[in-house]
Amino acid sequence: MSYKAMGIDTRAVHAGENELRVDGAVSLPIFQTAMYETASDEERSDLRYIRYSNSPNHEALHRKLASLEGGEAALVSSSGMGAISAALLTVLKPGDHLLAQDCLYGGTRAFITQALAEMNVSVDFLDSEDSAAWRQKLRPSTKAIYCEAMTNPTLQVIDLEAVTALAREAGIVSMIDATFATPCIYRPLEHGFDLALHSCTKYLNGHSDIVAGAVVGAEALIKRIRTSVKFLGSTLDPHACFLLQRGIKTLGLRMERHNHSALTIAQALEVHPAVEKVNYPGLPSHRQHERAARLFNGFGGMLSFTLCDGLAAARRLLRSVAIPLIAPSLGGVETLMTLPAETSHATLEPAERARLGISDGLIRMSVGIESAEDIVADLEQALA
Ligand SMILES: *Cc1c(COP(=O)(O)O)cnc(C)c1O
Repeated sequence: MSYKAMGIDTRAVHAGENELRVDGAVSLPIFQTAMYETASDEERSDLRYIRYSNSPNHEALHRKLASLEGGEAALVSSSGMGAISAALLTVLKPGDHLLAQDCLYGGTRAFITQALAEMNVSVDFLDSEDSAAWRQKLRPSTKAIYCEAMTNPTLQVIDLEAVTALAREAGIVSMIDATFATPCIYRPLEHGFDLALHSCTKYLNGHSDIVAGAVVGAEALIKRIRTSVKFLGSTLDPHACFLLQRGIKTLGLRMERHNHSALTIAQALEVHPAVEKVNYPGLPSHRQHERAARLFNGFGGMLSFTLCDGLAAARRLLRSVAIPLIAPSLGGVETLMTLPAETSHATLEPAERARLGISDGLIRMSVGIESAEDIVADLEQALA
């Protein structure tokens, strides 16, 4: 049965599920086996082994993710960084040049500036605000352009149409980390991107209990990235595949709640007298609200804000909230809060943090699926 023409929620539940229905099982069992018997000579040339990402659990997940993103092929990996590093190592070789957005996930930025630099891959970071100037940074050796759908923690939305236009014009690979968006909000391949990357640790799994990654794109390119994952050994194990597949089935429901609750909380914070500024793409006050409204279906579950009394007040708030957990990471059912200057962006120079709009008192919130009015009431009592 083809689910291609069906809605994303139907695809999340049904696409890619094992057509065999092993022993009639409604839920695909975990194939907890490292290797598979080879029955014939032909089969011996196509060995099945967990590290090759070709167990029934991998293949079902690959079909589901490809369907969700509207891509030809997908590949899961042992973490988001496992997918990002394998994809970059596949696309870039020594001597090549990369264009990258200036504000990236810390691990990705460090991989680019440290590991890729050691391999003699050079990078130019792009000024997000000035897409007209990007073309000047192109070199004959430029092979790829890399960005994120929404930046962490200020939720900036770069000119995604300019990214794909430049990639098409220059004949380079366009890559986007769409972790914060998920396929419910933005499907990069339908907008001309070559590769969509995800930390499935976040919304796709959604339950804060595994680490996983994925990359989706054209069959030929995914096949090459699969070879890199084979070499690096950054394969997802079948049990984590099972959990991720289970998590994805409720993605649509969860994202609806994340979108709705984050908007409700952002609106409540924006009018609160103790709050200085709220960053949420769903608010008309957000600098790229119009772009986000045009390109996205919903604005996601992440927001950040500063208080009028700065860092001291932020620390007090984090000590006073009852429902949110004070923890890094994001995208799970429970609301989490952190101070990015002390966690995800602690290694950046203070001047660089200031340039990216990350003040010491900036609070990041990953809004869970609890009742929004409970979170708002909790924030109000804590602010009081
Ligand atoms: C968490 C995250 C990553 C890294 O994912 P892991 O699963 O922790 O390896 C990459 N990009 C973004 C945007 C993230 O939030």
